[in-house]
Amino acid sequence: MDISVGDILKLKKQHPCGSREWEVLRTGADFRLKCSGCGRQIMIARRLLEKNVKEIMPGQRPENVTTQPSS
Ligand SMILES: [Zn+2]
Repeated sequence: MDISVGDILKLKKQHPCGSREWEVLRTGADFRLKCSGCGRQIMIARRLLEKNVKEIMPGQRPENVTTQPSS
């Protein structure tokens, strides 16, 4: 599963605030996620997170912002 910093993850489980979307702040063995609804940050183990991800929406990664030379 390819998850990068800046991506928005849609999880199967809903946060108590009503949002299912989380922004990835840090990747690794543990991920740091920020709830897009209430702004709360959590740490979650990668294997646990991968079980709960329903959809990955690529965010604004630095490498995606770079434009291709037209020549
Ligand atoms: Zn929330």
